[in-house]
Amino acid sequence: MNRTNRRVNPYTTRRPPPPTTVIEHAACRDDPGLFDAPSADWSAGPERERVAKAKATCAACPVLAPCAQWSSSLPRSSLDGIVSGRLYRTPSHSRGTTHN
Ligand code: SF4
Repeated sequence: MNRTNRRVNPYTTRRPPPPTTVIEHAACRDDPGLFDAPSADWSAGPERERVAKAKATCAACPVLAPCAQWSSSLPRSSLDGIVSGRLYRTPSHSRGTTHN
């Protein structure tokens, strides 16, 4: 697989890419949708369980430390969804729009 075609959440073209080791060993690479920002009413039901599962995946991720170092170097506004075990939400999510 071409590395540029890998689906790795939560990376977008708006921010610098994570280190290569993070891209290659990220536990989120095979299920990027799990790490999407939840909808506004996420605190109950399946969305809450999804967020918890994503955070648990990050906690067990072999590249949590370099991922956290990378994400902490970025503007908070550029992060969206579950990144390095933390939930980031854009203002649009806080107002109730869903993340597609
Ligand atoms: S710590 Fe979480 S967001 Fe970072 S690479 Fe691992 S699974 Fe992905």
